[in-house]
Amino acid sequence: MTEKIPVVAAVDIGGTKLAAAIASVDGKMLVRFQTTTPREPMEGVEWIVMVLQKWLQDRGRNYRNHALCVGCPGPMDRAGGMILRAPNLESWNEYPLRDELSARLAVPVELENDANLAAIGEHRFGAGIGCRDLVYVTVSTGIGGGLVIGNKLYRGVADSAGEVGHMTIDLHGPACNCGSRGCLEAMASGTAIMHAALERVGNGSASLAMMDLYNMQGNLTAKDIADLAQQGDQVASSLLDQAMTYLGIGISNLITVLSPQRVILGGGVTKIGEQLFEHVRKVVRERVRLVPIEKIAIVPAKLGGDSVLFGGFSLADELSHIRSEE
Ligand SMILES: [Zn+2]
Repeated sequence: MTEKIPVVAAVDIGGTKLAAAIASVDGKMLVRFQTTTPREPMEGVEWIVMVLQKWLQDRGRNYRNHALCVGCPGPMDRAGGMILRAPNLESWNEYPLRDELSARLAVPVELENDANLAAIGEHRFGAGIGCRDLVYVTVSTGIGGGLVIGNKLYRGVADSAGEVGHMTIDLHGPACNCGSRGCLEAMASGTAIMHAALERVGNGSASLAMMDLYNMQGNLTAKDIADLAQQGDQVASSLLDQAMTYLGIGISNLITVLSPQRVILGGGVTKIGEQLFEHVRKVVRERVRLVPIEKIAIVPAKLGGDSVLFGGFSLADELSHIRSEE
């Protein structure tokens, strides 16, 4: 019998999108599938099993899948193999996802927090290659993160480390989804920018362009504010500057505590680009006094929307080695 080519699989479960992919053991993506996240977890499992098995079957069973790693929105129970309280995936919560997938695919399966996987993906295949210690921060509707310390994911008690979006930035800041207030996520995420813009609309201190857009759409997104700022709108610019300053303060705190070689920023809000990075670097230069910041780079993520899948390939590869040594 001919030797089969070993591959690993990864899945990224998002609030709206569900992605699955297969890669060679050195992380070369061979195929990627995507669908809308089904409301029912059983349907999600069916889809994952179907696309992965069909791809392997279509290749005449020349490939053998050794392991699967699934990126899940938190909070999750990694040891129990299930999502616990993901806000947009109510019916998936507490469903025995790992065990169902493992039984159906007959391979070891591991669940991991999606931001942690993105950190691992960037560390092994993206903007963090060659870095012993790095912090990954994703800024989109929320703010998440992952810490790689000594070339390993730092998990903390009950796998709860890395929630960089929930460090307090302002004692009197707005209420946060986590139950606290003034968290980085409540001050600097896309949702926070949106809320700050709507507050301006509500109290009459928005610009004319902001009002026009609001009246047309019935809403204002972080992207709208970034676009208006780009066009020279002073109010939009100040809202954006404020959010980027808070982000810079959060990153200054992370650098002061961890002194990582690299801080990698990803997520939709960082698409603002160089302007955001320059602003954050300026705040960091002003606030970080006891760490040699010239040795620390603050850089954009490289793997874009696929960082979770690439982190999944890396963990699945480790998982398959662990199992084969048993
Ligand atoms: Zn919070």
